[in-house]
Amino acid sequence: MTYVVVGGGLAAAKAVETLRDEGFTGPITLIGAETDRPYERPPLSKGLLLGTDEPGGVFVHSVDWYGEKAVDLRLGTTVTAIDRAAEVVRLAEGDEIPYGKLLLATGASPRPLAVPGGERALLLRTLEDSLRISAAITSATRVVVVGAGWIGLEVAAAARSRGAQVTVVGSGALPLQKVLGDEMAQVFADLHRAHGTELVLGTRVIEVTPAEVVLADGRRLPADVVIAGVGVNPNVALADHAGLAVDDGVLVSSSLATSDPDIFAAGDIAHVDHAFLGRRVRVEHWDVAIHTGQAAARAMLGQPVAYDRLPYFFTDQYDLGMEYTGFAPPGAEVVVRGDLGAREFIAFWLVDGRVAAGMNVNIWDVADRIGELIHSRAVVDRKRLADPGVELADL
Ligand code: FAD
Repeated sequence: MTYVVVGGGLAAAKAVETLRDEGFTGPITLIGAETDRPYERPPLSKGLLLGTDEPGGVFVHSVDWYGEKAVDLRLGTTVTAIDRAAEVVRLAEGDEIPYGKLLLATGASPRPLAVPGGERALLLRTLEDSLRISAAITSATRVVVVGAGWIGLEVAAAARSRGAQVTVVGSGALPLQKVLGDEMAQVFADLHRAHGTELVLGTRVIEVTPAEVVLADGRRLPADVVIAGVGVNPNVALADHAGLAVDDGVLVSSSLATSDPDIFAAGDIAHVDHAFLGRRVRVEHWDVAIHTGQAAARAMLGQPVAYDRLPYFFTDQYDLGMEYTGFAPPGAEVVVRGDLGAREFIAFWLVDGRVAAGMNVNIWDVADRIGELIHSRAVVDRKRLADPGVELADL
C-alpha cells in the first residue's frame, strides 16, 4: 500500500520521516510543487534577510536522506486532483499515482496586496522570495512594509538592520494587536520605534505606484521597495474539490483524519479538533507543522493519536527573542512577571484564573514549565505569578 504525501514543506517532511522511524517499510511518495526539497521557512524572514544564515542551511533533510529512506521524491510536481473513488492523485502532467493512505500538507499561500499596483509589492513565502527580498533590501534606501504582523515586523527588522529607512503600515492601532492584545502589542511597537522604524498605523494602502505607497488618508510614502505581509490563505482547493470537509482549513479529527478515513491533513491547512483545548484550532506555525506532521504519520499507520500539543511559536526581531505557548482568546486577562521596559519578562494570559497562554520574552528555558501550568488547569495566585522571586516551578 503506497503512502502518498502531497506538499513539499515541513509537515510533509516530518510525516515521511516519522513513517520510516515508526518502521513503515512500504512505498512512500512525496509530491511537492516547489523545485526545492522541503525546507524550514523561519530563517527566510530572519537570518537569510540579515545575511547571517546561508540558504543551504534551511533544508530539513539532505538530498541523500530521501534515497537512504527510499522516499520517492517528486519535486516541481503539482497535484491537481484527488479521485477518492479510484484512490489516486492526479498530477499536472496527467499521470496518476495510487494511494492507500494520503496526507495533505499543502501549506498556505501569501495573500496578494489587492490594490491598484499591488503586484509591485514583494511577497514572502518561498526560499526564492527570500533571496529576492534579501537582494532588494540590501540595495534599497526606502522600504515600505505593508502589514504589521509577524512576517511584516521580521522583514522590517531585517531591512532596518541592513541600513534602510523603513516604514511599516498597519491597519490596526498597534502591530500584532489582534494576536497579543494592547499591552503586549505596545512592546513590539516600542521595539520597532526604538530602532528607528516609522509605524504608520490605523490606515490602509490604496495604491502602489513605481515610487510610492498611497494611503487611504491621502499620505504618500516614498518607497524603492514594497513588501507585503498581509496574511496567508490555506491551500485547501485540492481537499475542497475532492469533497472533503473544509472550513477555514481542512477539518480534521484529533487523529488528523479528514472526513475521509484514508486521507489526513497536517501543518498550516489542518483545522484540528484539539484534544486538550476542546475546540478547533488552525495554527500557521513551525512547531505545529512538525508535530501535526508526525502525529498524522502515526495515525496513518493505525496508531491511536489524540493531538493535544499546545500551540507554540517564536519570533526574533532585533535583540528581542520570544516564545509563545498556548492559546488565549481575545480579551483574556494579562499578568506580567518581569520588566516590560527592559523587554525581559513573561506575560501570562488567564481565563477564569487559569493560565491559558504564556509568552516569554528574552527569558529562556521556561516554555515547558509554561506548558505544564496550562496543562494543569490549576487556578493560579496572580501575585505569585507576577513575582519573579517565586520560582516558576513552585507555582
Ligand atoms: P508549507 O511550508 O507552506 O509547505 C507546503 C508545500 O506544499 C509548499 O511547498 C507548496 O508549494 C506545496 N504544495 C501546495 N499545493 C500543492 C499541490 N497541489 N501539489 C504539490 N505541492 C503543493 N513559524 C514560527 O513558528 N515561527 C517563525 O518564526 C516563523 N517564521 C516564518 C517565516 C516565513 C517567511 C514564513 C513563510 C513562515 C514562517 N513560520 C514561522 C510559519 C511556518 O514556517 C509554517 O507554519 C510552516 O512552514 C507550515 O508548514 P507546512 O508544511 O504546513 O506548509
